[in-house]
Amino acid sequence: MAAPWEDVLCDTAAIREAALVAVDAALLAGVLMRTEGRPNASDVVNYAPFTLLPSAVPRALFEQAYAVQQDFNLLVDAISQNKEFLEHTLASTIKVDDFTARLFRIYMQVLEEGLAQSVFLGINRSDYMFDRGVDGTPALKQIEINTIAASFAGLTSRTAAVHGQVLQVLGKSEEASRLLPNNPSKGLALGIAKAWELYGSPSAVVMFLVEEVQRNIFDQRCVENELWNRNIRVIRKRFRDVFEKGSLDDARRLYMDGQEVAVVYYREGYVPQNYDQQNWEARLLLERSRAVKCPDIATQLAGTKKVQQELSRPGTLERLLPGRTEAAARIRATFAGLYSLDMGEEGDKTAAAAVADPDRFVLKPQREGGGNNLYGEELRQVLEKIRDSPERTSYILMDKIKPQPAMNYLLRAHSPLQVSKCISELGIFGVYVRRGKEMVMNEAAGHLLRTKAIEHADGGVAAGVAVLDTPYLV
Ligand code: ADP
Ligand code: MG
Repeated sequence: MAAPWEDVLCDTAAIREAALVAVDAALLAGVLMRTEGRPNASDVVNYAPFTLLPSAVPRALFEQAYAVQQDFNLLVDAISQNKEFLEHTLASTIKVDDFTARLFRIYMQVLEEGLAQSVFLGINRSDYMFDRGVDGTPALKQIEINTIAASFAGLTSRTAAVHGQVLQVLGKSEEASRLLPNNPSKGLALGIAKAWELYGSPSAVVMFLVEEVQRNIFDQRCVENELWNRNIRVIRKRFRDVFEKGSLDDARRLYMDGQEVAVVYYREGYVPQNYDQQNWEARLLLERSRAVKCPDIATQLAGTKKVQQELSRPGTLERLLPGRTEAAARIRATFAGLYSLDMGEEGDKTAAAAVADPDRFVLKPQREGGGNNLYGEELRQVLEKIRDSPERTSYILMDKIKPQPAMNYLLRAHSPLQVSKCISELGIFGVYVRRGKEMVMNEAAGHLLRTKAIEHADGGVAAGVAVLDTPYLV
C-alpha cells in the first residue's frame, strides 16, 4: 500500500522546502482554523493541520466505501422512522446514560405531539479504517457513522489542491495530476438547498446552529458560501439565541427574531457539554417545529454507538431494509465485530473476553467528538470495575481495527517538522432528502481522509490529534 514518495521522505532539504510551500498553499486555499487562544475571532487565524504528503489508499476499498454510502443513507433514514427499533435498542442504554435518555425523551415527546416536519434532510459521514487481515490484505471496516455535525466537508474540499502543489514541488507532477477532485461542501449545500426548496417558503432562511466556541468556522463557511451563491440566506445562531428569540406560530413554523427558518443545520448539540437547561428547552422547541432539522432527533439517535452495535446482529439489517438484501450485504461487509454489554449471559461473555484480552478491543461509551474511547489497560481496569453493574450497558465493545502504518509528516502550527508513523481514516459524506415517504435525493457527496500518528489511539482533527489528508489511490 506504499505511496510512490518513499524516496523523498528522507530528503530533508526537499521536505523542508515542500513544507514551506505547503503551509502557504494551505493558507491561500483557505484550509484555515481560528486559533486556540482566540477561538471566536477571525483577525488571527492559522492553517488547519494537514499532512505534508497524500496518503496511499487502496483503490478498491475507496470505491467500496463510495458504493455503500447510498445504502447507509437509506439505513439511517429507515432507523430514524422505526420507533419500535429505537425504543427496543436504546432501552437498556437510557437507563444508565443520562444524555441519551434526554435525547430520547425529546424524541418521544415530539412523536406524541405528532410531527410537524414533513421534509427530512440527512447529512452523515461514515468513517472507516483499512484493517490489515492475517494475510496482510487490507479490508474496509467501519469505525462509526456520524449523523450529526459531521465536519470537515468544507476544509477537505480544499486540501487536494494543496497536496497537488506539494507533489509538483517534489517533482511528482504525474502523481499530482492523479489526485481526485473532491467537493463535499458543495454536496452538503445541494442537500440543504433541496430541503430549503421543498420546505416551500422562499423568504425563509437556513439556520446554522453553532457552538459557543467556533474555532472551525471556516469549515462551516465553505458550506454557507455555497448556499449564499444559490441565493439562500444563512444565519448563524446558538442554542442560547434560540432560547431567547425563537418562537413557533400556530402551524409550528419556526421564527428567529421574526424571520422564518426553513432548515436548521446542527453543528452543535452532540455532546452533553453543549446543553444546559435552557439549551435543552431550545432543542425541544426546534424539534417540535416544522423546520427541516438536519438531523432530526430520531436521526441523531440512529447514530448512537448502541444502535451501531445492534445493527451487527444477524438479521437486523435485513429487517430494517426489507427487500434490499444486496444493500444489507454491502453494509454488513464493512462491519467489524461489535458486542453488547447488556446485563445477562451475552454481556457477561463480552465483558470476560475484553478483560482477558483488552488489546483486541475498543470500549466505547455513547459519546461523540473523539477522546472518549478506552483501550488496552485502561479498558481492562474500567471494565473490571463495572462488569457486574448496569453501568456497563452505557458502553459497547468493538473489535480493534489494526491498519498498516505509513510514514508521513504532520504539519501543525508551532510544531517541529518530523516524520511520524501514521494511520489514516477515510470518511464518506452522505446526503439525502426525503419528503413524506418519498426519497428525493440520495447521494455520496465526497470524502475526507484524516491521518494521525499511531501513538494516539483516539481523537479527530478538532481534538488536535488527526490532521487533514488527501487519498492517493493505489
Ligand atoms: P467519536 O464518536 O468520539 O468520534 P469514534 O467511534 O469515531 O468515536 O472513535 C474515535 C476514534 O477512535 C476514531 O477516529 C479512531 O481513530 C479510533 N477508533 C474508534 N473505533 C476504533 C476501532 N474499532 N479500532 C481502532 N480504532 C478505533
Ligand atoms: Mg468519530
